[in-house]
Amino acid sequence: MEPLDRSTRWPYDERGEVREFSYQRFNSPTVAAAEAALGELDGGPALLFPSGAGATTALVLSLLDPGDTIALAEGCYYGTGLTFAALARWGLAVVEFDQTGAPPEGVQLVWLEAPSNPFLTMPDLEAAAAHPAPVVVDATAATPVHLRPLEHGADFVLHSATKYLAGHDDALLGAVVCRDDAFAEELRTFRSRTGIVAAPDAAWLLLRGLKTLDLRVRRQTETAALIAERLGAHPAVETVRYPGLGGLLSFDVADADTARKVETSTRVVVNATSLGGVTSAIESRSRWEGDRVPPGLLRLSVGLEDPETLWADLERALG
Ligand code: PLP
Repeated sequence: MEPLDRSTRWPYDERGEVREFSYQRFNSPTVAAAEAALGELDGGPALLFPSGAGATTALVLSLLDPGDTIALAEGCYYGTGLTFAALARWGLAVVEFDQTGAPPEGVQLVWLEAPSNPFLTMPDLEAAAAHPAPVVVDATAATPVHLRPLEHGADFVLHSATKYLAGHDDALLGAVVCRDDAFAEELRTFRSRTGIVAAPDAAWLLLRGLKTLDLRVRRQTETAALIAERLGAHPAVETVRYPGLGGLLSFDVADADTARKVETSTRVVVNATSLGGVTSAIESRSRWEGDRVPPGLLRLSVGLEDPETLWADLERALG
């Protein structure tokens, strides 16, 4: 493994000049190494942030002005809408739209999610690319294994690297990958000035996680496809949402009480929030999202356990 360098400052050279690394808030070797690895996967310069929400905040504050409006994919990660709502006091407005069609006119930023969490819709990337505003694709659940949004006309890729990229439920991190080198430098300066920077320890865990990303995500996709098919045939399951890629899916049981019984009855699948780790996790989303989701909606993040063991666990819990 690449070394983990926790230093917050590095000496100037023998002439007293600043070297590549001087102070951790500006840049640091372990963060730079993880950014290079992610940038290669997504095909553009990558910048790390202390969380996905931190990456979201930094990106919109550096791109937009007071009075601007973001077109936000409806049914996307609940927390992204909350982050934007927290910024409303600074003059940012939001309109929601159906991301399977074209974004509305008159907005200054288009925000898509591929696939959306927890409704699992896929955006119309071509329609978004034809819109005059810059396009952000939150590809947390697709990962670069399944989707490289910059190749489909997006201007930015956003990741909660906490999820599949780091992959082991032990690092909180976010990332923005840019199409444009000049804007990446502007965002880097904004990040240094505002201090929304990632720590080397988390970056090191990301660097290690990325080495197995492809293997993990392909296996999680295979297992998720199998589980989605079997859930679809189960009499207690009303709807299954799975876009055919990635390890995330959601399904509905009759009501909130039934959902609570299912999520507290699994023994292999952990009853917890978050997604993208090696351990499968299930939760009823209404505890966080209220009426925005059906009361019986369960979100399942498929891990790396044996597929038959997972299915037996779910089948028993549904029973
Ligand atoms: N984007 C998506 C799709 C997410 O699922 C999440 C978190 O669940 C985030 C962004 C926010 O990331 P973080 O929790 O790392 O701040």
